[in-house]
Amino acid sequence: MDLSGKVALVTGASRGIGRQTAKTLAGYGAVVIVNYNGSKEKACEVVDEILQSGGQAEAIQCDVADPAKAKELIDAVIKQHKRLDILVNNAGITRDNLILKMSEEDFDAVLSTNLKGSFSCIRHAARQMLKQRSGRIINISSVSGVMGNAGQANYCAAKAGIIGLTKSVARELGSRGITCNAVAPGFIKTEMTDSLPEEVKASMGGQIPLKRFGEAEDVAEAVAFLASDAASYITGQVLHVDGGMAM
Ligand code: NAP
Repeated sequence: MDLSGKVALVTGASRGIGRQTAKTLAGYGAVVIVNYNGSKEKACEVVDEILQSGGQAEAIQCDVADPAKAKELIDAVIKQHKRLDILVNNAGITRDNLILKMSEEDFDAVLSTNLKGSFSCIRHAARQMLKQRSGRIINISSVSGVMGNAGQANYCAAKAGIIGLTKSVARELGSRGITCNAVAPGFIKTEMTDSLPEEVKASMGGQIPLKRFGEAEDVAEAVAFLASDAASYITGQVLHVDGGMAM
């Protein structure tokens, strides 16, 4: 997969899946903007690793849950690089609780980051992609958005919302050379899943036909494929990277 000359923005790229996605896209030749919210040091580490392996990258702080800040992020990328070819909406948080105990704040926080953050970035990136008459938008959903999950009503609603958002954007922008797809990871080993209780991990493990948890690389390679020319006739799809969990 050759992404040379492409400019890619990965939100939430300081840690986990976003971090690996930034490194993978850079490895295929893209100039990568590593967005982070609070983890500045970790984002700078990602940039250093990419530069040291001969790639191009820079870090930009932005809380994508704030629509005005998301606009500033996209504006900054376009001002600096004059284009935006690949947008990966990866930034995400969880605030798990059973529905009776879930606060409005926790519901709103998860929707604001995972779903509205993706909407805001797409809205502003699309203007530039329409001018270019090309672009790749890849949204990170989740197996939870397809199957539901007890204790994650906010997260599952956001991740299911991302699928609807993806399909609508694919229909709206397809005639202008822009594709929009979602990747739905299953259980991937990151800080987000490290904190889950052992019994939850064991029960999830039992539902995976491939009998192993996924790695960030598994998701990053799927994102790179959807960003590449090899996927130019694919839009509005949800690519499951879940070891068969949600089939
Ligand atoms: P993670 O290790 O917790 O990393 C989350 C990343 O999102 C961090 O880089 C964090 O940046 C960033 N972030 C959080 N809030 C942000 C905000 N408001 N603005 C900008 N960046 C923000 O999570 P992960 O496991 O890699 O998950 C990445 C994505 O995959 C998420 O959308 C998640 O829902 C999805 N996913 C994960 C799994 C899994 O099993 N791990 C499964 C399905 C889907 P800072 O540290 O700089 O704040």
